[in-house]
Amino acid sequence: MLKERLKKDLLSWARSLADFFIRRECVCCSRPLESFESGICTICLSEIPLSYTWSSNTSFADKTFWGRCQIEKVTCLFLYKGKYRNLVYSIKYKGNIRLGIRLGKMLGEVIAEESIDYIIPVPLHRRKKRKRGYNQSEIIGRGILQALRKKNPAAKIETRLLERKDFTTTQTRKDRADRWLNVRDAFRVNPEKALQLAENNTIPHFLIIDDVLTTGATLDACASLLAESIKCRISIATLAAVP
Ligand SMILES: [Zn+2]
Repeated sequence: MLKERLKKDLLSWARSLADFFIRRECVCCSRPLESFESGICTICLSEIPLSYTWSSNTSFADKTFWGRCQIEKVTCLFLYKGKYRNLVYSIKYKGNIRLGIRLGKMLGEVIAEESIDYIIPVPLHRRKKRKRGYNQSEIIGRGILQALRKKNPAAKIETRLLERKDFTTTQTRKDRADRWLNVRDAFRVNPEKALQLAENNTIPHFLIIDDVLTTGATLDACASLLAESIKCRISIATLAAVP
């Protein structure tokens, strides 16, 4: 108890000290942050345009995948519009890992599905990951896991089942439309990992994670590959969705 209190005091002291040297501001509205705020201010957070995709199985997010690979549920936290686009930008390009985990946790809390076994972040090109230092989908997945474990303690992140093929094989294609059509070519399922999962004799429920849902082409490619390789159930979660 005392240890927890000390930890909290130290954390608050460190934040005040950081505020003194570095101007911390809201990534959405640029207002200076209070010491108890982190990444996003209380006002912007209270006005975040939630998508409510979790409240039905026929939301616009679910419909994105109708007629494609069979997806059980698509959950997105907020609508990708206005100043709230900065949240994704900050996590993706500014190394705001803490914000990614925090929003991931909020997303995990609204995921109604309790039977998720594996969280599968959409893999990043190896070269991109090396340059960025992290995969933003994996960061969001870490936050989701924190929330999901309260519902299902056995849930885990699986980053080795789905792989991104070599950077050059997809990027050398010059035509954009061609690249879109060949988005499936960008990924592969690790056969060893797939075999390991098949040996468990249960049907795993995968939750594929991405930062933003736009056309759904990448997520559909990942889902189709998984469904072809392993008998499984598939759901999808993204931080934001283009309305
Ligand atoms: Zn703000």
